[in-house]
Parts: sequence; structure tokens; C-alpha cells
Amino acid sequence: MEEFDFDKLVDKAYEELPENIKHHSSRFEVPGAIVTIAGSRTIIENFVDISDALNRDPNHLLKFLLREVGSAGTVEGRRAILQGRFSPYLIANKMKKYIKEFVICPVCGSPDTKIVKRGRFHFLKCEACGAETPIQHL
Ligand SMILES: [Zn+2]
Repeated sequence: MEEFDFDKLVDKAYEELPENIKHHSSRFEVPGAIVTIAGSRTIIENFVDISDALNRDPNHLLKFLLREVGSAGTVEGRRAILQGRFSPYLIANKMKKYIKEFVICPVCGSPDTKIVKRGRFHFLKCEACGAETPIQHL
């Protein structure tokens, strides 16, 4: 009869666990915002790289950001240019808020989602678990 080896059991559990997590996070790597403040404007240099990583329309992300900071701005090339001076810390926080509200499935935590429209309503549709969560319209 095999001896019960708790350490071995824990080792095995850890061996199996990171595989899952690694798989999940490797598919969801969001670049940090590169923020430059130039005069009275704030430039997010890699804005489209971020929206690409999130699999979202850059204009949707921009609309959210502008509403959050109460400003105006545009996407120019790969960059977003915002009127006003906003700290990289603030921008990073708003990005996290966007990801939480418009990317991550609240049911299963998967980032593998898309925004679908039904009539006047918008939903976050999860490709992993199939859940549809109502989201606010921007
Ligand atoms: Zn889900």
C-alpha cells in the first residue's frame, strides 16, 4: 500500500495549477500604457496596442476614457491624444476599470469576450462560458 505523502500531493497540485494560470494569462497580456504629457495634452503612445490586446475598438476604449476623465481627445495613428494633463497612474486605473467593466467576464473571469448589441442594449458575451452580462452603453 502506498504511503500517504502530503508533500507530494501538494507538489502535484502546484504542478497542475500553474499550467492553467499560465495558459490563461499568456493569452491575456495587456501592455501598460505609455503616457507622455506634452504641454496641456496627455498622449498615450501605445493606445491601439492596448485596445488590440483587449480585442476592442480603440474608439470604444477612447470614449470610455474621455468620459471617465471628463475630457476630449482623438486617436491618431497608434496614439491617443487627450486634452488636459492626466497622470500615468490615473490612466492605468481607468484602463483597469475598462477591463473590469468591458472585457473580463464577471461569471467565469475569462477575458475572451466580445460586446454584442441587442436592440438598445449591450451585453458582454463570454466565449468561454457563454454568459451574457448586460453592460452600460457608452
Ligand atoms: Zn465567462
